[in-house]
Amino acid sequence: MAQTVLITGATGFIATYVIKLLLEQDYIVIGTVRTMEKGDNFVKNFQNDNFSYVIVPDLTDSKQHFEQILQSHPEIEIVLHTASPVFPRYYKDAEQDLILPAINGTKNLLESVTKYGLNVKRLVYTSSDSAIHSVNREGQNLVENEDSWNDVEWVRGNSKDIDAVTGYDVSKTYTEREVWEYSSKNPNVKVSVINPAYVFGPQLFDETVHELNYSSDLLGSLVTNGNGDDYKRLKGGFIDVRDVAKAHLFAFQRDNTINKRLFLNETTFTEQTLLDIVNAKFPSLHDKVPKGVPGSDKETLRESFTVFDNTKTKEILDFEFISLEQGVFDTIDQIIKVKGI
Ligand code: NDP
Repeated sequence: MAQTVLITGATGFIATYVIKLLLEQDYIVIGTVRTMEKGDNFVKNFQNDNFSYVIVPDLTDSKQHFEQILQSHPEIEIVLHTASPVFPRYYKDAEQDLILPAINGTKNLLESVTKYGLNVKRLVYTSSDSAIHSVNREGQNLVENEDSWNDVEWVRGNSKDIDAVTGYDVSKTYTEREVWEYSSKNPNVKVSVINPAYVFGPQLFDETVHELNYSSDLLGSLVTNGNGDDYKRLKGGFIDVRDVAKAHLFAFQRDNTINKRLFLNETTFTEQTLLDIVNAKFPSLHDKVPKGVPGSDKETLRESFTVFDNTKTKEILDFEFISLEQGVFDTIDQIIKVKGI
């Protein structure tokens, strides 16, 4: 009989691809969304009777919602927790808008699973490489891997001193710790964690190109924002959204992923790497995309960047990751076509 999966943050960039794969593999999928409008639109896009949605308007106040979902759907066997604020457009306050929704939402979900999720066997939490990597440690010739933890500290009630990046790092690091704490106390639910680097790749549905998620918007703004000064923000690791989705399914379908962090990173890049790829692949955009100093990314990466080692993850996930060139090409190609650039 088909297994039922609960996925939080269903309309998100990553979750949308996870749901596509789940439906292709005949799972029954219940997704949490924030509004009925978003849910109805999503149902229309997927056109698949195996998908239904429930509304969880805000993670911070989600206790009753999650309890009700788990109570009314005892058939849920797998929980994929992807919902979390990622530099939302309404962002004002690090604790209120990033940290507390992430941590409290996750606690609410986990407690509801313990109380009512009698058939839940597997739980996958979408963390981040922000819970592994610390920008403060850059330039120290470090190697960071599946065992590394961001050492960011959170002094509660001190939002005004927390910038957005630190707030996000705190949200992912402290939330992931909650998940492992839960795992140690609940051996019946097997836990795996996904730690993706920056996720790029095309949107599954063209319409979301008009309302890009944070990481896609960073990349998209290279071609939509012209020659602004803002283009030197980016430096980090890359993984394609299609690989992130595959990893979520592997994470609950296999036993060698139990109690593991899957550190998803294909390669590292700077903004210059992205500019070089876009300029080489899209000559028609030459008057819109800055040139920077072509090729200078190699030195920047050598001098300042921590080495990421995800050998263990690659052994577990025995598939080839999509290259940065392909991920960037597919992302920009879709944006150009949909926006008529
Ligand atoms: P999206 O912003 O596209 O998706 C996030 C989802 O969470 C959306 O469905 C969003 O709903 C929901 N959500 C956010 N805040 C709340 C809240 N307060 N209450 C209820 N629901 C909420 O981001 P991604 O798909 O990129 O990210 C998914 C997960 O992957 C996140 O946990 C993120 O931290 C992690 N991740 C992402 C990376 C990336 O580069 N994209 C890299 C590493 C980790 P709505 O859109 O309706 O607000």
